[in-house]
Amino acid sequence: MGSGTLSIDLNALAENWQALDRLSASETGAVVKANGYGLGTGRVCKTLAKAGARRFFVAIAEEARALRAVLGSEPFIGVFSGHMEGDTGIISDLGLVPMLNSPEQIARHQDRLPGHPFGLQIDTGMNRLGIEPYDWQPEMAEDAELVMSHLACADEPDNEANAQQLGTFLSMTAGLRTPRSLAATGGIVLGPEYHFDLTRPGIGLYGGMPFADARPVVRLDLPVIQTRKLEPGESVGYGCTFVAERPTTIATVSGGYADGLIRALSSRGTLYAGDTPCPIAGRVSMDLIGVDVTGLEDVPGMLTILGPQQTVDDLADAAGTIGYEILTSLGPRYKRVST
Ligand SMILES: *Cc1c(COP(=O)(O)O)cnc(C)c1O
Repeated sequence: MGSGTLSIDLNALAENWQALDRLSASETGAVVKANGYGLGTGRVCKTLAKAGARRFFVAIAEEARALRAVLGSEPFIGVFSGHMEGDTGIISDLGLVPMLNSPEQIARHQDRLPGHPFGLQIDTGMNRLGIEPYDWQPEMAEDAELVMSHLACADEPDNEANAQQLGTFLSMTAGLRTPRSLAATGGIVLGPEYHFDLTRPGIGLYGGMPFADARPVVRLDLPVIQTRKLEPGESVGYGCTFVAERPTTIATVSGGYADGLIRALSSRGTLYAGDTPCPIAGRVSMDLIGVDVTGLEDVPGMLTILGPQQTVDDLADAAGTIGYEILTSLGPRYKRVST
């Protein structure tokens, strides 16, 4: 088979949700945007619902179709982008709860779907989404299901922006009886004063930092298509950027930047044959990667790029990015199997 195999450990996913749930006294939601962080909305939502999650969040309303199909009509599905022009039908049909981000969105929602549940997102300093303090009136939240905000620096516990945003959130929501939510994965780790009524973990569920105790959820094995022997002076791949300095064996594996193995891994990333590291030789191409397997006695049928030797965050470090980007870039060509 020519495609890589992406193995998704659903027990680890469920245990990560439960572990994050134990870290707070609040209700624990689940953020499943971007196809469940690349792993597949259906299997992710089914597993998290079974583990106990009752409130799910997506980035845009369209993403909720796949959720409703597996979750049924009961669970809460919040939409971070709020009530966008053209979304009235889907919000109504699927019973979604838009997190309204501006006075314009509030007006649109009241006008198009009066009486339909909504939440509010307020901006406490990230300046990305949410109602600004200068537009905010606490009465806006009277009928809201939830008032939420998002932290810009929660993955840096010592960053003073965290306490500042917490202070702003407390003062903007003072006296409200509406349930409140501030923490994603990073905010859960920051401590109880950030937890409020509902937490919204994403990356930690899928095994990524800043949830240091997360169990790894993904494993990715790439099939070796062929191997070849190089004499010193011969080169590998586009641009001839890898030049053999000694007799070298190169394995060409199936997988490339079209599959989310970003080109920044060229000559920097590593694959594994069991415990043995095998460096990427030369440039990552669209569908293929050259790997230096000179050290191996036997070249296995598959080499591992995500697994026990290398987490999503390790690979992200090698590529100069973050685990979120590695996960959500995982391409559609892999055979996704649940384990
Ligand atoms: C993506 C997102 C989350 C989840 O964040 P993680 O860092 O993945 O836990 C929570 N809230 C909002 C508003 C988000 O955009």
